[in-house]
Amino acid sequence: MIYFADPLAKLINELNKLPGIGPKTAQRLAFHLLNSPKEEVISLANALIEAKEKISYCSICSNLTDMDPCWICRDETRDQSIICVVEEARDVVALEKTREYKGLYHVLHGTISPVDGIGPEDLKIKELLDRLRSGKVKELVLATNLSIEGEATAMYLAKLVKPLGIKVTRIAYGLPVGGDLEYADEVTLGRALEGRREIEG
Ligand SMILES: [Zn+2]
Repeated sequence: MIYFADPLAKLINELNKLPGIGPKTAQRLAFHLLNSPKEEVISLANALIEAKEKISYCSICSNLTDMDPCWICRDETRDQSIICVVEEARDVVALEKTREYKGLYHVLHGTISPVDGIGPEDLKIKELLDRLRSGKVKELVLATNLSIEGEATAMYLAKLVKPLGIKVTRIAYGLPVGGDLEYADEVTLGRALEGRREIEG
């Protein structure tokens, strides 16, 4: 059965691969794009390619950036003695929006998840330990999500880092259990950061 001309079917198929985009939405978007002026579609395609080509990981914190080091690592007014560990680059955005946090970040790019075959070596943990060995860092804030994987990753890091004599804290207050940081509102997230508690060894 053929419903769509090949190029259209291909476009729908590609859109359908995106997170949160089901077959119906993919179709709607595809038709919307076909009905849009050609220059708008070209502008979208170029933005996709440009972002993919110009954005890479910061060599210090692994945040997504178009310059290396990223603008946060470059900013000398930020508190260099505190690093906040997050799962994904989008969590940095969520925490920056709270305007509560003035330290540095470290993006793990995932969580430890044995079920999915993701171990510590698949995350940016070695890079984190290298940073901590500089001796400048006094506190590590574990801001992984409050999911099973996020908690397991936080506990793993706490065990690894505490022997280095660095204070390790965990955000908690006010965030729903199992909830993702990025879905928390700025006030809640700000409070979660402010109310962080030290993990006892
Ligand atoms: Zn950076």
